[in-house]
Amino acid sequence: MTQRFSAHRSPEAEAYRAFYKDKRWRGKHGIRARRLSLEPLCRTCSKRGHITVATVVDHITEHKGDRDLFFAFSNTQSLCAPCHDSEKQSIEARGYDKAIGEDGWPIDEAHPANACGGGIQAQPAEISARQLQGKS
Ligand SMILES: [Zn+2]
Repeated sequence: MTQRFSAHRSPEAEAYRAFYKDKRWRGKHGIRARRLSLEPLCRTCSKRGHITVATVVDHITEHKGDRDLFFAFSNTQSLCAPCHDSEKQSIEARGYDKAIGEDGWPIDEAHPANACGGGIQAQPAEISARQLQGKS
């Protein structure tokens, strides 16, 4: 009879639910409301030069049930639902964000393209200017 209440919910999931119901999170002056008023646009979209209204307050470092991480205002960011649902999950699975910035280079420092000391980031024009100076 009571099976459906506990069958597929772990104790961790119950703790998460309690956090999200806590008025420090969802209250009128809770973390969620403060973050969205401070940062009304999606942070991921903004990095790409897109303006999207944020509807989700996400934890930057996964809280995994950790009360301190969950209620740390500085550990939250505003995202739009598509960014939160798809990208955040794939970033966590992949270990980096594959988003490309306006300069055509991956934004995330953890991206493999940023892992080679930045040497290939130099523009061809800069390289030839440096070489010319060196040769004179
Ligand atoms: Zn977004």
